[in-house]
Amino acid sequence: MKLDAVVVGAGFAGIYMLHRLREAGLSVRLIEAGADVGGAWYWNRYPGLRCDVPSLDYQYRFSEELHNGWRWPERYSEGPVIQRYLSYVADRLGLREHIQFETRVEAAAWDEAAHRWSVKTDRGETLSARYLLPAVGPLTVVNMPAIPGLEDFAGRIHHTARWGDKGADFTGRDVAVIGTGSSGVQCIPVIAKTAKCLTVYQRTPAYSLPVTNPALSDADIEAARLRFAEDGQERLASWGGMTLPHPPGATFDFSPEEREAEFERRWGMGGFAFLASFTDLMVNPDANAEAANFVRRKIREKVNDPAAAAILTSQDFPLGAKRPCLDTGYYETFNEPHVSLVDVRANPIERFTREGIVAGGVERRFDDVVLATGFDAMTGALLKLNVTGRNGVALGDVWVDGPRTYLSAAVAGFPNMFILAGPASPSIMSNAPAAAEQQVDWVINCITHMETNGVAAIEAEEAAQDEWTQHVEQVAQHTLYPRANSWIMGANIPGKPRLYMAYLGGLNAYRDRCTGVAAAGYKGFRFEQAAPGEGQSLEFGAA
Ligand code: FAD
Repeated sequence: MKLDAVVVGAGFAGIYMLHRLREAGLSVRLIEAGADVGGAWYWNRYPGLRCDVPSLDYQYRFSEELHNGWRWPERYSEGPVIQRYLSYVADRLGLREHIQFETRVEAAAWDEAAHRWSVKTDRGETLSARYLLPAVGPLTVVNMPAIPGLEDFAGRIHHTARWGDKGADFTGRDVAVIGTGSSGVQCIPVIAKTAKCLTVYQRTPAYSLPVTNPALSDADIEAARLRFAEDGQERLASWGGMTLPHPPGATFDFSPEEREAEFERRWGMGGFAFLASFTDLMVNPDANAEAANFVRRKIREKVNDPAAAAILTSQDFPLGAKRPCLDTGYYETFNEPHVSLVDVRANPIERFTREGIVAGGVERRFDDVVLATGFDAMTGALLKLNVTGRNGVALGDVWVDGPRTYLSAAVAGFPNMFILAGPASPSIMSNAPAAAEQQVDWVINCITHMETNGVAAIEAEEAAQDEWTQHVEQVAQHTLYPRANSWIMGANIPGKPRLYMAYLGGLNAYRDRCTGVAAAGYKGFRFEQAAPGEGQSLEFGAA
């Protein structure tokens, strides 16, 4: 089948890309492995899943009509509500007929002579398209821990990212949760409510910040509607694609009492406001330690058992260097008599048995084990696409030492491929819908430029790619973010190259850079003109 474009992935990035390409009159098919839209919010259905960005921010902004046709119920929405929102968007924009669900892209190869991508699916189809747009998500490929004996365990195993439709009933059961990242922190308090016994295996303690989650009133919704245009501008002009209360200045410009008061004020606000307490928390280790100590003190106040509190406050990395979790009652859960905590650093998990888990020489028996063990993040799903560019070179070979891109969207040797929300973009460190909109808008402008100027292929230049890759690395090294063994560093996957895989300059700086490149005639890109009669969509621009 011949198309103008193939988009892979029906999350925030892919859905909006599909819409813009359709709007521009191109023939497009979106291929999605899941049975519905939603991306991360389709696959992750564990109990307690909630967004860590307020819902009035964590949504599209490109259409006021779309915005006004949806009502968010709470400040931080539950996962299923966000999935329903994307479903609403797909229906409202008439996108479903262009999406092929339950289909996986297995390979994509650039055909040099035809200036086209040949895209193979697991249904045995081959699609031919001029543009390939992977929107495969930063947190897609499940990380199953390599614990010996896992397959011998006779009880139920659940992974938070593959929960399934029907959920799981833990009433009266002995349950283990392995992992205390965001998914673990969110599901543990909920599972504890019904489980007979809950044992939490913690390797790395989270810094979790509390959230309050009031229902949004009609007045809140009305105010958001009135601020539609203004809020949209503000979020694009911000570092993280969301509006946080401005920090008053650098940490040590204030007295200890003033610092304490500001931390307390922001702790009370809930959510990421705390991380913006002062300007230097993520660049000055001493400033960061002040904030981290405040959080540890708060944890100790919440947890009754000093031994458990010591394990929960044993963070050995800067606050914020891993995206902090937001929780509702996480630490308080450890005060429940049926909940216990195992420090896996001191008592490593050795193996599964038929009945349970052996850690530090002690076997505990379980009916259910919940793996909250995360993802092969940032590059996992992209590499599984098995993309080969010019001269049959595989993306996996080009990225053997880590991802190399130009502006995150393009890779030298891979013409007409635009990666969305990929490595070296601000996406995962910001509010994803805001980042997706910015990037998709840039890509559609670039494609428009190509179509109207008879360009058959666009490709990043090596020198531009080197410069951008170095810039991303330099910005990261200027901060404390690389000082944690995080999934953004690839540290959770044995053998993965260690480097900071997100752009920390901010969505605002990234947008300015992308806009500047476009204004300079797509500086750093090489164009190939189309041969007479080749390629351009006749319908282009008609809509
Ligand atoms: P995704 O939503 O990940 O969509 C990618 C899609 O591509 C998936 O549906 C997948 O099935 C599909 N796909 C991948 N490979 C293939 C293939 N080969 N063939 C066919 N289809 C394929 N971000 C926040 O800002 N705030 C949060 O609170 C937050 N919470 C999160 C909680 C969890 C549990 C997870 C996993 C992520 C969370 N995120 C959060 C990050 C989230 O990934 C982004 O916010 C956003 O949803 C990403 O959108 P996306 O369109 O880039 O990718």
